[in-house]
Amino acid sequence: MTQPTEASPVPLDSPAEIVGRICDAILSRQRFVLTSHARPDGDSIGSQLAMAYALEALGKEVRLVNADAAPEHYFEFPGVDRIEIASQTTADGDAVIVMECSELARTGVSGFDGFIINIDHHAGNRMYGAVNWFDESAAACGEMVFDVINALGVPLTPEIATHIYLAILTDTGSFHHSNITPRTFDICRQAVEAGVNPAAMARRVYDSNSFGKLKLIGALLDDMELVDGGRLAVLQMDDSILETCGCTQNDTEGIINLPLTAREIRAVVFFKVGPNGEVRVSMRSKYDVDVRVVASEFGGGGHKNAAGCTVAGAIDALQKTFVEKILRAIDLQDAGTAIPHT
Ligand code: AMP
Ligand code: MN
Repeated sequence: MTQPTEASPVPLDSPAEIVGRICDAILSRQRFVLTSHARPDGDSIGSQLAMAYALEALGKEVRLVNADAAPEHYFEFPGVDRIEIASQTTADGDAVIVMECSELARTGVSGFDGFIINIDHHAGNRMYGAVNWFDESAAACGEMVFDVINALGVPLTPEIATHIYLAILTDTGSFHHSNITPRTFDICRQAVEAGVNPAAMARRVYDSNSFGKLKLIGALLDDMELVDGGRLAVLQMDDSILETCGCTQNDTEGIINLPLTAREIRAVVFFKVGPNGEVRVSMRSKYDVDVRVVASEFGGGGHKNAAGCTVAGAIDALQKTFVEKILRAIDLQDAGTAIPHT
């Protein structure tokens, strides 16, 4: 994207211009590799598959390559079984479309080079593509993919609509986060008109727990620590609890959102200690409490209300550091606008 300079101000490209450039790049090419971030979530899977079906509607050839398998409850969504899992690949197409990744390394796959189209909504996107569309205001990358599909003139098929809705449903935290706009609902309305059943989608995504996961939820919430009068909740686990409950890492998805259902809790931090001392830190917050700022201090990223990073160190010291920083983020919001009730 062209940046204005002091000497000769150049207007920033409008979203319509960038989308136009993405369409030109797509329409003039035939073979595509589509990828998204490691440890995929609903937005990465949904964006990737919606784009795949749209390109195939145009007669394009599509390969899907990700570093990790999708969580099990996404297996039944159309096309998920087509995703190749690889840590290394060859970009043997005419272009690679990278969705949901603020930097190329977020794919967790090496070997993506050549012509890259970068479509993402994570703050701090590194603009690593030949064409870059970065829009932090999008509630989900799926909103941006919807615009591209629309501009390509591809109608919403039930498959495309399902994946766009999946992306938005999950990345808004089932319509909880503060980045939702009228446009979010306008896209969802069109998805529903194209055949998506919101009740069935919510059941498939959120009511698909195993009994083991229910046990895991019980154990983790039982161990939850409340800090500062309950404004911050701290969850922690290592792999041994997974074995006890008969679970896998994928079963941890979504558990971090549960403490937020308590009225007083403004933010949650969840420490997952790996076998080699690596600690994955996930954070969630309400309203304007900005946990992305905390994650980015440790080389991670995400969004204001949902962010994460991977760190190393002793868990006690890490807890102390993160708790201090998140409490500061909560204080900053409390000192600002009043918490909206409507
Ligand atoms: P998670 O807590 O893993 O569900 O991630 C929440 C949000 O933070 C998602 O938007 C992720 O893409 C982002 N995120 C998590 N870990 C990282 C990381 N190491 N680097 C950049 N973004 C991250
Ligand atoms: Mn996203």
